Amino acid sequence: MPDPADRPQPPSPSPSPFPSPSSAPHDRGALVAPVLRRAVAEGLLGADRPSAGFVDVGGVRDSVAGLRAAFAHVPDVLHTFAAKACALVPVLRLLAGSGMGCEVAGPGELRLALDAGFAPERIVLDSPAKTRTELAQALALGVAVNADNLAELERVDALRPPGSASVLGLRVNPQVGGGAIGPMSTATAHSKFGVALRDPGARERVVEAFVRRPWLTRLHAHVGSQGCPLPLIAEGLAALHDLAVEIDARAGRRQVTSLDLGGGLPVNFADDTVTPTYGDYVAALAAARPELLDGRYGLVTEFGRSLLAKNGFLAARVEYVKDAGGRRIALTHAGGHLATRTVFMPESWPLRVSAYGPDGTPKETAPLRQDVAGPLCFAGDVVAHDRALPELAEGDWVVLHDTGAYYFSAPWAYNSVPRPGVYGFLRGGETADTGAAAVGKADGEVDGEVVFAPVRAPQSLREVAAESGLAHADALLTGFTAPSRT
Ligand SMILES: *Cc1c(COP(=O)(O)O)cnc(C)c1O
Repeated sequence: MPDPADRPQPPSPSPSPFPSPSSAPHDRGALVAPVLRRAVAEGLLGADRPSAGFVDVGGVRDSVAGLRAAFAHVPDVLHTFAAKACALVPVLRLLAGSGMGCEVAGPGELRLALDAGFAPERIVLDSPAKTRTELAQALALGVAVNADNLAELERVDALRPPGSASVLGLRVNPQVGGGAIGPMSTATAHSKFGVALRDPGARERVVEAFVRRPWLTRLHAHVGSQGCPLPLIAEGLAALHDLAVEIDARAGRRQVTSLDLGGGLPVNFADDTVTPTYGDYVAALAAARPELLDGRYGLVTEFGRSLLAKNGFLAARVEYVKDAGGRRIALTHAGGHLATRTVFMPESWPLRVSAYGPDGTPKETAPLRQDVAGPLCFAGDVVAHDRALPELAEGDWVVLHDTGAYYFSAPWAYNSVPRPGVYGFLRGGETADTGAAAVGKADGEVDGEVVFAPVRAPQSLREVAAESGLAHADALLTGFTAPSRT
């Protein structure tokens, strides 16, 4: 696997007019208010556009640079972005243009990755339930495939075209245990993912599966996502390394050429600090198994949340305020359609919320305990419970911070609420060689320099109807066809 930097870069039909930002750290928190004010002034947000998502383009570039820097001393690394964390074509194309590959989990994400311009050899397909057709297509394209289980390997045996360019791997579950959030923990004893390595006989079956298939050259593990501590992730990846060494010894040659380490770097949702960092992640690997980084095995990474979460936020309008049972409730347009995990699992997925006036200026008034509720028709549709915030009023805006991954980019169609628009923003200073020059300026000066580009248009009511079967409106009245009696 050649170094990603040496590979042909994906076609970039519209090269960015903006050079990469300087090495000055990107101050994400300081940008929220100027971006919000500008969005209100330009009408991206308003009474009839009551919510929108925003992607910090300079921040995304900064995060990618941090990832590359942390692995700079490792000879052979392909960094892929887990598409599910922000499955928006312009965001994927930005990442492709930054030299990333893409991890996809099914035909929809594969299609988005190809549309975004990722070369097939920089795409990794990981889903746990690939159909034969999906496998055949991936193998024909030359997309890397990680089989989830031994039965899937048998399908690959039958489907692999001679001379397929696909790098082929097997996902294993090192069963090192779970983290703080059960549904995010993929290395538990009973996880549905990969071959459960510590089950009786499983390790031997995996080794034999490799020895029988010389084309099987990659081992894959994704130990877990948010809530998994770094030492646990590192322990699982050390086990992955040791399995590769064992396979090579049994095969009597270097059969395993690369290790796919998955993603899972946790994100700090409590404030603007990026912690842990990619540097902390690499240090944890080095502490657990230094040989992981010595270049004997090429590496693949699949980070999602840590690349995008802090590079996006959601803004939503306050429609009404009311009191119920002695509690203040703000009825807003930030609900479970945009923050699904938070409304269903508020303890596991708390989000920082802050309050802004109608023009997008931060509210500084004394805190009052309030619920921040959404527009959906179910009682759990509350994004922040009993939260101390400046007193909200009709026409104010609430911002849900760190929602660039898995939130507004993964909307839920409940109640047929139209999906809001998503906009990428750049700070004016980032459009010129001066890089971060605008950081030190007062908000008012930075304000006029924020520029937007559309990422996803607000969904129209016509589109809502179309995806709800409008084309088949009469089907249940007149649309039945008699079974053919041939
Ligand atoms: C979800 C997922 C990732 C990305 O996880 P993050 O926590 O977003 O970094 C990577 N690999 C696989 C196989 C996944 O399922």
